[in-house]
Amino acid sequence: MRSIDTAYIDGAFVTVSGDEVIDIINPANEKLIGQQRLAGRQDARRAIAAASHAQTALSQSTKAERLDMLRSLQAAILRRADEIRDVTIAEYGAPISRARWISQYASDCFGYAADALQGYQFSRRIGDATVRMEPVGVAALIPPWNAAAGTICSKLASALAAGCASVIKPSELSGLQSQVVTETLHSAGLPAGIFNVVVGRGSDVGDELGTHPDVARISFTGSTATGKAIARAASETMKRVSLSLSGKSAAIVLDDADFEAALPMALNSGFQNNGQACIAGTRILVPRDRLEEVEAIVRAAMGAWKVGDPADPGTTIGPLANAAQFDRVQRYIARGIEQGATLIVGGPGRPEGLAQGYFVRPTVFADVDNDMDIARDEIFGPVLSIIAYVDDDDAVAKADDSPYGLQAYVYSRNVERASRISERLMAGSVLINRVTPDLRAPFGGVKQSGIGREFGIFGLESFLEPKAIVREHADVEAASAPQWRGPESITDFY
Ligand code: NAD
Repeated sequence: MRSIDTAYIDGAFVTVSGDEVIDIINPANEKLIGQQRLAGRQDARRAIAAASHAQTALSQSTKAERLDMLRSLQAAILRRADEIRDVTIAEYGAPISRARWISQYASDCFGYAADALQGYQFSRRIGDATVRMEPVGVAALIPPWNAAAGTICSKLASALAAGCASVIKPSELSGLQSQVVTETLHSAGLPAGIFNVVVGRGSDVGDELGTHPDVARISFTGSTATGKAIARAASETMKRVSLSLSGKSAAIVLDDADFEAALPMALNSGFQNNGQACIAGTRILVPRDRLEEVEAIVRAAMGAWKVGDPADPGTTIGPLANAAQFDRVQRYIARGIEQGATLIVGGPGRPEGLAQGYFVRPTVFADVDNDMDIARDEIFGPVLSIIAYVDDDDAVAKADDSPYGLQAYVYSRNVERASRISERLMAGSVLINRVTPDLRAPFGGVKQSGIGREFGIFGLESFLEPKAIVREHADVEAASAPQWRGPESITDFY
């Protein structure tokens, strides 16, 4: 049992001023494993002040200095990767394979940011201008609960590479993971104030970050509803905002795909992270005349999915993160049945033999119409919909008939054909015959899945702003003949 009552401000762990204490529950057994005293507005202000102070020096830092910092953070996370993996299992319920990937990624993203920084030109000539890419200023980094360690680290990596000091506000539902990650980042020994971590609620700490005049940039990952609220609040002080939001990704299985290989991959994408992934391919689009075959393969493939103790290496789906998530997913399963979809796998209630913990039955519906709630809403649990299409045009139309556009998947034996379909899809990224993204490529959504891109060069540039310094050429100045230099007064313009 761990008791946390500090925030990380100006290089030190300081007791928070907030007085709300929340329980931290292990979702696999519903046991109390910790308590967290949440930070409040006061703490957020102190963190912003510390970051603002650090920003002055960080803006002047050299590329080499920032590369050193990134490499130190990468090494620090790698040293404690096992601890990060274990706390991701204990607090969040990620299966061990996923938790291991998250802790590895948390380290790798500093390496990716360093690689992007290494080759980046901060200054270039455009016409008479020297264009300097300058750090935008203090950044608020706001991650969700479903990918705490990875999102904290990837946002911090891009901000730091660009020379932006930051205040990180992890979700109040990921206190334990955030604490372990923060202690690890602290062990890298960076100068005080470059990053600060304040765990609190969105309504006070988040709101303070979203409205404070000294915060220049917000990098948010979370739900579309919260993203809209943040964008509205941030517009008052014209903060630079990137929003990585909800998704309802389509996985198109083309008629020439190897169904025996493609459908298990589609299930893999849909059930990743216990179904609590923004990029989960939750709408599986298949040719209408092959429905029977698809259903048989899906039923058989489900034998490989084992729900249970997330620490057991044989487990592929752990519990949902909390009771609210459990209830939400149960409601959607009931809604799917109510609206006429056919259950082919799973269903309401808990899996057999799992009376404790927020476990749900991995569920697949067939005969789903793209207008049903289970096809339109982001359920954020292991509930997938099989949707039939008649031809390629219909597949693209159905895939794009969604308010979201984060990621899509295409499965085909013909990569050229799959690429042509990918070009037509409205999505921030499209994966062909694979489930794992390339985390050096830009990531983000179109439509209501967000604005802006993260990772690699695009992530770095999202924390920079171009400044154009335009001057006379030396040779023009040398030829000191009188010349037209613009209007004598502003009124000459009009
Ligand atoms: P959420 O929107 O409820 O919360 C996200 C973060 O925002 C939390 O830290 C929360 O405390 C904070 N917040 C809430 N109100 C705020 C406010 N007014 N001002 C500032 N901050 C505020 O999302 P969640 O439930 O934590 O995460 C799940 C959602 O995140 C899903 O919709 C999922 O698709 C999305 N998500 C998107 C991505 C992506 O990269 N696109 C990745 C992971 C999760």
